[in-house]
Amino acid sequence: MSHKLTPPAGEALHYQLERRQRRTIGLKVTANGLIVHAPKRISQSDLDNILLQKLDWIRKKLDTLSRHQIPPLQWQEGEDLWLHGASIKLSVQHHVRNKAVSYSQGLLKLAMPNHLDASAVSRKVMQWYKKEALADFTRRLEIFSAKLGVATPTLFLSNARTRWGSCNSKKEIRINWRLLQAPPHIINYVICHELAHLKQMNHTAKFWAVVASIYPEYKQAEKALKAWSPKLHMM
Ligand SMILES: [Zn+2]
Repeated sequence: MSHKLTPPAGEALHYQLERRQRRTIGLKVTANGLIVHAPKRISQSDLDNILLQKLDWIRKKLDTLSRHQIPPLQWQEGEDLWLHGASIKLSVQHHVRNKAVSYSQGLLKLAMPNHLDASAVSRKVMQWYKKEALADFTRRLEIFSAKLGVATPTLFLSNARTRWGSCNSKKEIRINWRLLQAPPHIINYVICHELAHLKQMNHTAKFWAVVASIYPEYKQAEKALKAWSPKLHMM
């Protein structure tokens, strides 16, 4: 539920209120604003008083976050993109026909009639990323399947907003194509994580032991993935 707190001075504070079975109030400052987790029984006025006391802290946090926001892509000539953890340039030129997207030496080249149409450019770039991701992930999946001693499972690309990979009981693995933007060691980790689910459909110690058997540095990779996540969602 969306709520509004009107302090005696300054701007109103908008927040999402989620009432939960809990005893304390939890404040979470996210890119989408403040989320308040409150006990079911607390009254709105008590809650408002607590939020007022914490207002300075909340504002500071929201402020820092908005300053660290990554600006959205414009899909235009000279823009910076990520590929395998490296910064590459997008080149968008006018051409009478749609030319095949090409990549070499840090430059992703598009040539098309509607080169100023951001959504057309973004579609072309994402198509290229998906095609490359499928080839790249398939190769990695083959290598790590052999390491784990299992048949290479069927790979699908996913477009999920919240998950980087998933594995189901039909032994199908889904990996988010956006991971192609991340450094190779992170891609390897996500693939090994999902492969390990073929043996353990859980996140128990047994599962992590399987992960470690094919990817020993999984803890660092998991941290690196978290740090990369906001950048990977730009596209
Ligand atoms: Zn998992």
